Amino acid sequence: MTAALSVGLDIGATKTLGLVLDADGGILAEVREPTKPGADGIVGSAARVFDALRDATGQSLAGTVGVGIPGLVDVERGSVKHAVNLGVDGDWLPLRDLLAARLGVPVVLENDVNAATLGAAALSGADDLVYLSIGTGLAAGLVLDGRLRRGEHGAAGEIGHVPVDPQGNVCQCGQRGCLETIASGSALAAAWPSGNVPPAQALFEAARSGDPSAVVVRDRFTRGVASAIRVLSLAVDPASIVLGGGVAQLGEPLRDAVAQALLEQAASSPFLASLDLAGRLSVVPSDYPVAAVGAAFLGR
Ligand SMILES: [Zn+2]
Repeated sequence: MTAALSVGLDIGATKTLGLVLDADGGILAEVREPTKPGADGIVGSAARVFDALRDATGQSLAGTVGVGIPGLVDVERGSVKHAVNLGVDGDWLPLRDLLAARLGVPVVLENDVNAATLGAAALSGADDLVYLSIGTGLAAGLVLDGRLRRGEHGAAGEIGHVPVDPQGNVCQCGQRGCLETIASGSALAAAWPSGNVPPAQALFEAARSGDPSAVVVRDRFTRGVASAIRVLSLAVDPASIVLGGGVAQLGEPLRDAVAQALLEQAASSPFLASLDLAGRLSVVPSDYPVAAVGAAFLGR
């Protein structure tokens, strides 16, 4: 029976979320713990989550554990670097082997956006999709013809660093006017400071209630997201486009606003209109742990 269960961990800057999937992909148990930074902190947080999952299911959970983590991931070596918010800098950290030694089970390591992309594919049943993660940054994952596309340097889908505005702000990557400086959670936080409320939520509520400056900021943001989708779609023409990441907690109002921006971009182009990008768009259900689900599928 245990063999039918699979475990996925999504290691984020603030929390580590772990879950157990049953044979049908249903979530049997879900646990979250604060993530402590640095190698020892990350491994310790993951171990606490794994122990709690064993307790919750009463199973030994001896199968391979899939792990998603931000940063540049060398899947073959099981190493990660540039996970800056986790205290992992420019040196490769052999996290797969550290975790396997601590948890006592085999581990596979994957970039968190790629893990979420696999989760979105499992959730939708689509085997050809682009997953656009709108979190602090902006990045996409690609499942093309049923296969995850990582790219020769792990840079496939780094759409946030496509420059679109020569007069725009300097991006943390060193270029100017990247999509990430317009269409990301950090761009929203800078453009619409909101105290304790998540900026995206505050902005969309203000825009809906008719605040003209909020409408301007929201529309610039949604046009940026639509531009990212247009670039991705013209590059790989996916069957399905899924919005995820922290900003996608907005749910259907985000999908509606981005769909509207796509329709406006297509209004003057019969070619673009014929592609029906708005019609391919969906959003991950609020609070669905898509990256941890994808990580669990990786371990199968
Ligand atoms: Zn950039």
